[in-house]
Amino acid sequence: GADLANLLNEAAILTARRRKDTIGNLEVNDAIDRITIGLTLNPLLDSKKKWLVAYHEIGHALVSTMLKNTDTLEKVTIIPRSGGIAGFANYVLDDEMIDSEGLRSRAWLLSRITVALGGRAAEAEVYGDAEVTLGASSDITEVSKLAREMVTLYGMSDLGPVALESPNSEVFLGQNWNSRSDYSEAMAIKIDQRVREIAIHCYEDARRIIRENRDLVDKLVEALLDEDTIDGDEFGKIGDRYVEVTKEDSVDISQTSLGIGK
Ligand code: ZN
Repeated sequence: GADLANLLNEAAILTARRRKDTIGNLEVNDAIDRITIGLTLNPLLDSKKKWLVAYHEIGHALVSTMLKNTDTLEKVTIIPRSGGIAGFANYVLDDEMIDSEGLRSRAWLLSRITVALGGRAAEAEVYGDAEVTLGASSDITEVSKLAREMVTLYGMSDLGPVALESPNSEVFLGQNWNSRSDYSEAMAIKIDQRVREIAIHCYEDARRIIRENRDLVDKLVEALLDEDTIDGDEFGKIGDRYVEVTKEDSVDISQTSLGIGK
């Protein structure tokens, strides 16, 4: 209740600032971003950094659009936020992705990891492995956490359906590394291997998607640099337009089956 009151208060302030009479969806969404992500700062001036951020965020957005079993893209933006956030891609959690028990599937988890690696994948494909940046560090943390949970909590690897850690274990933060004894050292090595395999598999998938759609990636980056924010619908339309054009030119018809515009 207090969170909702706080949210609507923020939305009301934005509404007044925009000289509107009533709070709309836009103000509520913007207020959610202010509270959960940070205050908006001035857009970056055109620079190498701005281009890199754009490629990184389009990487996330495009991978999420191309994969099955992902949540729907809500928007992608390169307007910086307080707290050192250079940009982000946001998703609407899709109820269809949750099974009747309210649980996320293995396929959803793998897609989510691949999407999280989409930013780094785009940096690497466009600028080369030597040029990748720290911009992906929170993505990498998320990837490690999800992949580790798949192996140690959800029994989703070939180590079998056994819980190897308790849900609140902070092992992956490195704090209790030596104090836990749920499993042997040999098992710890196996766990690390599986976690790494999941991450590498998903990273290769993300890089392949970026590579195979490089022209579209460039188009989307240009649009994002132009507009600073692209919402999910518009993102799909740019993709659809691109697909139509390339189909007419019969450059690469295989692009059409990838389901952009979902
Ligand atoms: Zn990222």
